Amino acid sequence: MQAAIQPFAGLFNFLKGFRIKVDLHCHSTFSDGVLAPAQLAARAHANGVQVWALTDHDELSGLAEARSIAEATGVRFIPGVEVSVTWAKQTVHVLGLAIDELDPELNAGLTEIRKGRLLRAREMADRLTALGIPDSYEGALKFAANPLLISRTHFARYLVENGYCKNMQMVFDKYLGENKPANVPVHWSTLEDAVRWILGAGGRAVIAHPGRYAYSPMQFDALFEQFKDIGGEAIEVITGSHTLEQYVEYAGVARRYGFMASCGSDFHSPKEARIDLGNLPPLPSDLTPVWHDWI
Ligand code: AMP
Ligand code: MN
Ligand code: MN
Ligand code: MN
Repeated sequence: MQAAIQPFAGLFNFLKGFRIKVDLHCHSTFSDGVLAPAQLAARAHANGVQVWALTDHDELSGLAEARSIAEATGVRFIPGVEVSVTWAKQTVHVLGLAIDELDPELNAGLTEIRKGRLLRAREMADRLTALGIPDSYEGALKFAANPLLISRTHFARYLVENGYCKNMQMVFDKYLGENKPANVPVHWSTLEDAVRWILGAGGRAVIAHPGRYAYSPMQFDALFEQFKDIGGEAIEVITGSHTLEQYVEYAGVARRYGFMASCGSDFHSPKEARIDLGNLPPLPSDLTPVWHDWI
């Protein structure tokens, strides 16, 4: 932004945020969502979304279909991905936004991350069998349109459909959440690799739903510092995974570290969503939206 209008940046961002409906985080059948990219694109359009990103877990194959439908309906499409990272023994998700999905290094990195999933699924199924829940490998696979991306979400759907738990949250609380008996920890990519692949593909790296991680305050500081040092530029402030208090808390983090702010529903399924595609409150007006120079 030019120096002359810098004092009005807050007002400018507020007006842009007010006018524009943006959703930069959701999942299709290429990962653990239940709608195909074309259906998501149609839903985004129907819900009035003007700037939209598809961000499947560790997978770029849905982007071409999403782009073609989005652009046909006049929605500005931002190609994205949600990269699984292990940091201090826990999983962190890093969104890559506005990436070049043909970038060879990003593709090679994601191929590597995807490799362990089927083996891990077998192990999760064995643990569930030992806990009195048989046949979950086959059951989860039936929900996974892309078997190489089989995830805990597909297991959770199988458990809910078969009456073992009332809803997805209860599955994670009882069986599949971090440190729960059927969770099989994975070593995903490193934070450095994930950010390097995203930046190398011309994208912007964003820490997804920071409120979901069980780090100590010192660990959070170390995570944000390191992320910033290696070129990470933004965090999600408004997401379907955050409470109202966490909107405020992570807006504070964005200010403290000078991060841009992102917003996304993290929509997976009409039945499971807390927030529908595009149905998000605006970002605090003083923050710089991660999409500020894309529109
Ligand atoms: P995975 O990549 O196989 O470890 O699965 C992670 C996925 O599980 C996330 O992307 C979410 O979609 C889902 N998930 C994780 N924790 C929860 C939770 N507490 N409630 C509902 N879904 C969750
Ligand atoms: Mn997911
Ligand atoms: Mn996530
Ligand atoms: Mn997600």
